[in-house]
Parts: sequence; C-alpha cells; structure tokens
Amino acid sequence: MEKFKLMMMVSPLMGHLTQALELAKLMLARNNQLSITVLIMELPIDPDGTAKIQFLIAATNVEGLHFHHLSTPEDTSDWNITHRRFFILKLLEYQKPHVREIASKTQKLSGFLIDLINMTMIDVADELGVPTYLFFTSGAAFLGLRFHFQTLEDEQNQDISELVKGESHLVLPSFAKPVPISVLPTLATKKEFRSNVFLKCTRDYRRAKGIIVNTFSYLESNAISSFSLNSYYGKSSLPPIYPVGPILNSSQIQTQSSEDYSSMMKWLDCQPKNSVVFLCFGSLGSFHLDQVQEIAYGIERSGHRFLWVLRRPSTKKGGFPREYENLELVLPEGFLDRTASIGKVVGWVPQLAVLSHSAVGGFVSHCGWNSMLESIFFGVPIATWPIEAEQQLNAFQLVKELGIAVEISLDYNQEKENQALVKAEQVEKGIREIMDGENEVRMRVKEFSEKSRLATKEGGSSYLALDNIIQDICSRS
Ligand code: UDP
Ligand code: UDP
Repeated sequence: MEKFKLMMMVSPLMGHLTQALELAKLMLARNNQLSITVLIMELPIDPDGTAKIQFLIAATNVEGLHFHHLSTPEDTSDWNITHRRFFILKLLEYQKPHVREIASKTQKLSGFLIDLINMTMIDVADELGVPTYLFFTSGAAFLGLRFHFQTLEDEQNQDISELVKGESHLVLPSFAKPVPISVLPTLATKKEFRSNVFLKCTRDYRRAKGIIVNTFSYLESNAISSFSLNSYYGKSSLPPIYPVGPILNSSQIQTQSSEDYSSMMKWLDCQPKNSVVFLCFGSLGSFHLDQVQEIAYGIERSGHRFLWVLRRPSTKKGGFPREYENLELVLPEGFLDRTASIGKVVGWVPQLAVLSHSAVGGFVSHCGWNSMLESIFFGVPIATWPIEAEQQLNAFQLVKELGIAVEISLDYNQEKENQALVKAEQVEKGIREIMDGENEVRMRVKEFSEKSRLATKEGGSSYLALDNIIQDICSRS
C-alpha cells in the first residue's frame, strides 16, 4: 500500500532538531503507513552544532525515516548578518527553491512538518496544495502569548513596546498569573526581532493545518484551555492544537571521548543519591570570564557536589558558543584542584543521561523548554537562570505558576543592554534551596514527573493527541 509521505524540515538547532526527530520516530512507531523524509541543512556559522547534528543523524536508523541533505551555500561572508537568528532565516530563504524542487518531485506528498522558525516553507506547501503541520518546540503558554500579541498588533492596532511602557505586569490569557514585564521575551519587545521574526512567524502559524506542541495538558491546562476562547486570539479561529509531550531527546549526543564519558558516569555512580547539582545552560548558553568566576565561587560556597557544563561566548556578537580550550584560565585560581574530588567541569554532556541519574539532585538551568521537560520527567527540581529567547517566561511559569522550581533569577537576559552579573551569593542560595533536604519543590516536581509519564502512556492525554494528529495526516486521500 502507498505510504503517507511527510516532508519534515526544521531549523538546524539542537533544541529544535533533536525533538523533531523524536516526534518523527514516535509517529512512525505508531503508524506504519507513514514515511518521513527529513531535509537537513548545515549551519555554516555553527561548526560545533553541525558536528553534533551529524553525529545524531549517523546514529539514527529507523524504518520509514529518510534523510535528504540540502546543499550548503558556498560563501556566506557577504550576508552581513548581525545576529544568528537573521542568519538562520536567510538560510531558510536560500533553501526555499531547493525544497520546492524536491517536494514537487515527490509523488503524492501528504504534507510538510516544520518548526516554529521555518514558516517560510509554508509558502511551498501552499503552492503544492499540501497541508503544513507546525511543531512548536516550546510551551503552550508562550504560543498563547504569541497569538495574543499578534492579535493586539494586527487587529487592535496596539504596539507591544508601547503597551508595556509604564506597566509592571500584563494579564495574558495563557498565563494563570499576571506576567511581569521584565520576563517578556526580547523577541516580542525589541523592534528588530518583533517585526521581522516574532510577528511574521506568528501570523504564519495561523496558516498551519494543525499545531503540535511539546507539552502536556496537566502542565499547561490554563494555556491549553485558553485556545478554545477565540476572543483572546483574534477574528479567525486558530488551527487545532495537539499537546503531545513530553517528547524527550532520547538519542544522546556524545562529544566526549568514550573514556571521558564513562569516567564521568562512573564518577556519578559513586556519588550518593541526590547529592550532585547539575549546571547546564542549553546548546546556546555561554558565559564570559567575570560571570564564570561568580558561578564558581557560588558553587564552591554551597559546598555541594557538582557537574557543570561550561562554554564560552562566540567572539562574534549574536554568534554560537564554543568550548573553552583551557578552563584553568577562566576558573578562579586553584578551583579545579580544590574541587577535584567533588565536582567536574565539562564542555558538553548527554543531558538526559545525567538528569536520569539518581545521584543528580538539582538542576541549575537556563529553562530552555526541552531542558525543563527533561528535568520534570525525571523529577529533578530546577533553580532558574534564563538567558534569552522565551526562557524568562518559562522560568516564571516554573517558579510562580507551577511551584516546581526556585529562582536564581527570573529575568536575567543576555539580550538586554548592560545586564548585571548574577552574583555568587545568588548562585549559592539557589543551589542550597534545591539541594538541601527534602524540600517542597522536590515533592511537587515528583508529582509533575508522574503526570508527565502518564500523559504519554497508552490512553494518556498526549498519547491520544498524537493519535489524533496522525489520523489527520493520514486522512488525506
Ligand atoms: N525564533 C523564532 N521565534 C521564537 C524563538 C526563536 O522565530 O519565538 C527563532 C529565531 O529566529 C532564531 C532561532 O529561533 O532563528 C533561535 O532562536 P533563539 O536564539 O532564541 O534560540 P532557541 O532557544 O529558540 O533555540
Ligand atoms: N543538551 C545536551 N547537552 C548539553 C546541553 C544541551 O544534551 O550539554 C540537550 C538538552 O538535553 C536539550 C537540548 O540539548 O534536549 C537543549 O534544548 P533546550 O530547549 O533546553 O535549550 P536550547 O539549547 O534550545 O536553548
């Protein structure tokens, strides 16, 4: 029997691609009438990330899942890009004719599956008369904020940056509590991002046939139910929303040598239960020397065992982080010697393997959506330290709405001018709060962990939502 063919294209960023591949694997496992071709593009400005993605693809061998590598532009030196966001958008535009060619040669294409950045491909799908499904790799509350802001701008002629002036909080339909202005994403408030990225993409979300969200109903019941009240979200109705998460990144990318990796895991095996604090800031987080020093002192003063993933910022503004070549030069003098028996500093770890380890008792996290879901799934309490994108909102949700995290900061934002350092005392306090004793946050996160597992089990809310979206895709004649 002829298969239902989906063409999947997501941006070449770890936090987007890994989860999209997991979604594809889940769909294929659920329905053997599907076949998914993933279009892969290299990101020339991010060699480390590209290597990780290549590792991931080489390690993925699933029946029905095919990869097609798009060509990389030969010379991008004249693209004159000021931020990686604009580079990615330009790269997607560059790929558009190539995708059109591949898709138009594909017999009986059932649809496109794209991610929250890649909305330009919806034009190609429309030209070919096939539906587009959007995979939204962040939360439903943030999705609601996007639709709400876009409605205010486009239908009520309100300027978001004006709207927030002089206010301390905003009431938003997808959040249970008033949201402090300081945690609104720079994507929405900064002019250069708002019109070119934020609003443009959000308008196109409305053109999707369905929106698949990596969340589960118990976690975001308020946001999910707000979507059925159209008055918040404009005159035209929204596409159906499918909360199918948590979709976790099970294909763990390893960049350490296998000896380093197994010695790190052996070290974890030797640590008492819940005794190690894990610090990691996603695939894009990085710190300069002065902030590194504050973190190091904070960890040391907390007295806890630790595993710290540390990277340096790009030398180009708005670029991608790299690994520090010599940690001795950035850490306080003697730090590595003093902490040799109780801690490790590394450049990358397979995060899921670490979070699932019983020795790990707390997570200092940038609150990237995937990291949040992973931590919840394994019942590890978070101390929040957002860095950019929508992470401040995620931190607010975790601490203030869900009560499953403590705050190091809610509104630290590297995209703001003159962002002050987070001091060692704040780091120490946050670590102590999640690590000391059987605290309330740990108990609450355990409850959410159980709910997240139930959601994806047969008959659970996310399990059923995934069935529904697959049925929709396969209902096309
Ligand atoms: N992006 C977007 N809308 C969002 C968030 C991100 O279009 O709400 C795009 C942005 O254009 C950039 C990419 O996502 O190309 C990376 O964004 P960011 O640096 O914020 O990282 P993320 O945490 O989303 O991976
Ligand atoms: N990750 C990892 N090792 C690291 C840093 C990140 O395995 O050292 C994984 C992490 O498990 C998650 C993804 O990369 O699945 C990062 O996604 P997230 O949404 O948390 O943050 P982003 O990188 O998009 O800011």
